[in-house]
Amino acid sequence: MSHTLWYPYAQMKQLEINHEVRRAEGVYLHLASGERLIDAVSSWWCVIHGYNHPELNQAAQAQLEQVAHVMLGGLKNAPAQQLADKLVEITPPSLQHVFFSDSGSVGVEVALKMAVQFWQNQGQSSKQKILSLRKAYHGDTTGCMSVSDCDEGMHHLFNGILPQQYFAPAPYGGYEANDADIAAQLDHIEQLMQQHQSQLAAMIVEPLLQGAGGLQLYSPRLLDGLRALCDQYQLLLIFDEVATGFGRTGRLFACNHCQIEPDIMVLAKGLTAGYIGHAATLANSRVFDAFYSDNPSKAFMHGPTFMGNPLACAIALKSIEIFERDDYLSKIANIEARLQDALLPLQHPFIKQVRVLGAAAVIEVHNSEALQGVQAFAAQRGVWLRPFENYLYTMPPYIINAYQLQQITDCMVGWFQS
Ligand SMILES: *Cc1c(COP(=O)(O)O)cnc(C)c1O
Repeated sequence: MSHTLWYPYAQMKQLEINHEVRRAEGVYLHLASGERLIDAVSSWWCVIHGYNHPELNQAAQAQLEQVAHVMLGGLKNAPAQQLADKLVEITPPSLQHVFFSDSGSVGVEVALKMAVQFWQNQGQSSKQKILSLRKAYHGDTTGCMSVSDCDEGMHHLFNGILPQQYFAPAPYGGYEANDADIAAQLDHIEQLMQQHQSQLAAMIVEPLLQGAGGLQLYSPRLLDGLRALCDQYQLLLIFDEVATGFGRTGRLFACNHCQIEPDIMVLAKGLTAGYIGHAATLANSRVFDAFYSDNPSKAFMHGPTFMGNPLACAIALKSIEIFERDDYLSKIANIEARLQDALLPLQHPFIKQVRVLGAAAVIEVHNSEALQGVQAFAAQRGVWLRPFENYLYTMPPYIINAYQLQQITDCMVGWFQS
């Protein structure tokens, strides 16, 4: 294999890539070999409507003929304004302001910078640190790495150059965690906040579902508790909904499972349905107002080249329209029920736990060797699975039908019965 193309998360010397995608449609990846695979992971969780969607294609083509890209610096464009309005409408009521960028990682960087400058603008310049959770993943850029916890070796090499942040233990107890577990976790977090209050600008979490940490689930009531603690100890609360946004956990946003609202929320992945990268960092008026001033030095000095790209925004608008019109939340509820029926009964000495929430399911094994070969096993059966570490998971496109979904779960179950 030629090495002109450097692949992600891979030791290039050992890399074998067996499948070339020529075309894709619906849930299917059509390969150069003539075979097709069901994409059980929605191309890293973003292709929520499946591939080659006629209406999304049409929206992209129509926008292409108007203007594909124009800078947002000093110029308006209708798709960017309309998408900002739409995101304000569908996210929790307090989130009123939208800052666009080009990827989830940059959306998180924007959130972190916003949080630090929020305090700076009010004369509290010692509040520059972020509190995060063990097992968190917030992206691959430097600021994002500093608030991520990937034991399995993704980031530790860079410890020397990363800003040092604070970490609370990974949440536990699952979606249905009991009162005692939640109280113990909040207690631990409160101690950290108490100790470092003068330095902490914000707490960042992936609400309910820590994705790249292994699809770990936790209780919405923990988030309610975090909100109260952040208020008490003067931290902003940031929800990274890059993975959980747009239905993945069974509600439109993971924060819709709880009673509270974050100060800042980041969306990407599903935002543009896998067509083109884009992200949105939403803020409430308390945050926005700390920047809004006659003083130019209080402005937020950030502006990715492609922010508010009209093509991306037009696709996102159409994606949200389809999601609402075609009642995707009920499609997702069906997916959840089928995933639960097919996977939750599974028991095997290799299996540590099976977890399902919304359109996401994972089989966690005790030892990653138990998953050696599962990717090829699934591909022979027409399914594209991409396990990592100890986690065999699916996050299918929401348009998947019952038969296709069963092919995925049959592979996941069949692997342990073969
Ligand atoms: C994928 C992901 C990111 C990073 O998004 P990119 O678009 O890959 O930069 C950030 N946070 C979470 C929770 C993610 O799942």
